[in-house]
Amino acid sequence: MAKILVVEDESKIARFLQLELVHEGYEVEVALNGYDGCEKATEGNFDLILLDLMLPGLSGIEVCRRVRNQSDIPIIMLTAKDDISDKVTGLDMGADDYITKPFAIEEVFARIRVALKRVKRKKKKENIYYYKDLTVNTDNYDVNYLSEKVILTKKEFSLLVYLLDNINVVVPRETILSKVWGYEYIGETNIVDVYVSYIRTKIDQKYNVDIIKTIRGVGYIIREDKDE
Ligand code: CA
Repeated sequence: MAKILVVEDESKIARFLQLELVHEGYEVEVALNGYDGCEKATEGNFDLILLDLMLPGLSGIEVCRRVRNQSDIPIIMLTAKDDISDKVTGLDMGADDYITKPFAIEEVFARIRVALKRVKRKKKKENIYYYKDLTVNTDNYDVNYLSEKVILTKKEFSLLVYLLDNINVVVPRETILSKVWGYEYIGETNIVDVYVSYIRTKIDQKYNVDIIKTIRGVGYIIREDKDE
């Protein structure tokens, strides 16, 4: 169950949020000022922070800035109704969302669910292929060999990822064509050969390796080499 930190100096509101969130099934801790909030945020293992901006001493904005320096935890600000500049500053400081006071508790629940789901999606999406000294990140299109950046075009990238996705499988040219180029291509498949040769120039030849293997008359394969 997700663990939520509520940073709110008005103890009545803090208590209300705590009761409601616990009732909803969350684990909740409360910090009644910014310093305590910062300390708890960095020490505790929270999944989300509900952060009041109007705090005595260390302001919510400052808490947000400090927390953001150390973690990507979702932060939902609680702001006064008309304080546009605080909202903007908070978002600039890396807050993910805001809720305007006075709020309906259902809205708080909904915002929390959205923020937690977003994190989950982000985590799930992260996808990096490691093959020998090659790393291919499908989130940001980064390709590296050892620690050197390899610049691939979009098609070259898709082709490489497709082969990595089908590691140890011989993929026929026709299949590559329809999966990577996205249409049924009747006849010539030598465009696949051309793109394989581009990738080989940029990786295999440059680093003197043999990543994409040709299966004569059929297609291509990237094979896990058990001896290496
Ligand atoms: Ca307050």
